[in-house]
Amino acid sequence: MMETVHVGLGARAYDIQIGPGLLGQAGALIAPLLKRPQVRVVTDENVAALHLETLRAGLKAEGIEMEALVLPAGEATKSWPHFERTVEWLLAEKVERRDIVVAFGGGVIGDLTGFAAAVLRRGVRFVQIPTSLLAQVDSSVGGKTGINAPQGKNLIGAFHQPAMVLADTEVLGTLTARDFLAGYGEVVKYGLLGDAAFFDWLEAQGPALAAGDMAARIQAVKRSCEMKAEIVARDETEQGDRALLNLGHTFCHALESATGYGDRLLHGEGVAIGCALAFELSARLGLCAQEEPSRVRAHLAEMGMKVDLKDIEGDLPDAEGLLDLMAQDKKVVDGQLRFILARGIGAAYVTADVPRDVVKALLEEALAARG
Ligand code: NAD
Repeated sequence: MMETVHVGLGARAYDIQIGPGLLGQAGALIAPLLKRPQVRVVTDENVAALHLETLRAGLKAEGIEMEALVLPAGEATKSWPHFERTVEWLLAEKVERRDIVVAFGGGVIGDLTGFAAAVLRRGVRFVQIPTSLLAQVDSSVGGKTGINAPQGKNLIGAFHQPAMVLADTEVLGTLTARDFLAGYGEVVKYGLLGDAAFFDWLEAQGPALAAGDMAARIQAVKRSCEMKAEIVARDETEQGDRALLNLGHTFCHALESATGYGDRLLHGEGVAIGCALAFELSARLGLCAQEEPSRVRAHLAEMGMKVDLKDIEGDLPDAEGLLDLMAQDKKVVDGQLRFILARGIGAAYVTADVPRDVVKALLEEALAARG
């Protein structure tokens, strides 16, 4: 049942393997990359408790020894103190340039470990074994690595492509429903930005996929990875098209910042709300019919996801405050906010040509609906 998606990046090309039970085959899959039979694994407490022994056994089956660093779970781990601890642990473990470091966890572990691998001895190879849906469909692919700064999210980092990605779709079974659906926000994003037929398929298969249908999960991860791989191969360092992957993210980053990057709003939840707002904005600008944002919202609602600002608990800044937060987005160029808008489902594009007052009015209405 294993599927392979190739990321065509010349000398930095690699494969994404997708399927159930890949942890058990990790040794056989990773062995061709190794110069000596050992790896160092960075993971978090939740993933370690549930899956580390399965990975250890999968590596052991091919005679590969592993040592693991187990970090606390959560976004706060993507920070200087844990980064320092990780790099120093890898040095203490005498990881050499020809060795492989394994990132075993969600996006937090993948981003942190990838960045540690990027700077350790000026760059060692690493393998992503993503365990959250968000990490399998998005963060483990494409080579963006990094940590958060006190000044903002993902402000410190490097492009460092993994040598391989192993997405074991069976481990998704231990995610909380909330974490699973947050990852699903990124899956929907791919349909919305560039593949209307995929969005149609998600409308039909989404509920089964969420309920655990393995074939549907594999297909969703595969199609998402194909789309990301194709965009990354076209624009590895985000000079142009790669920004399409940020559909919904300008709104999302402002909302995450306003809610403190924590439990009030998970990243994937913010992406889903952001996608709904980006489609609403597109309709208001006359780019697409009003049916399009309605359809986006209907699907998110059917999946039991957050759809609107009113689904976010607690206080939010006013529209001006949210616009200020948007202005701190990394996508701002020469002070101009760049948005990903859509001419319809599956037809997104990047533009800096968005009147501020239209965005403000949209946010004011969305905030007013919170009552
Ligand atoms: P996460 O790593 O915090 O994982 C979410 C939660 O799920 C954690 O508590 C984790 O311990 C738990 N978990 C992971 N796998 C599990 C499993 N199989 N069973 C049970 N629990 C499991 O967060 P995330 O949502 O995976 O990723 C979010 C991060 O990814 C953010 O920091 C975001 O900035 C980053 N990100 C990076 C990129 C990129 O291109 N590099 C893209 C999107 C998001």
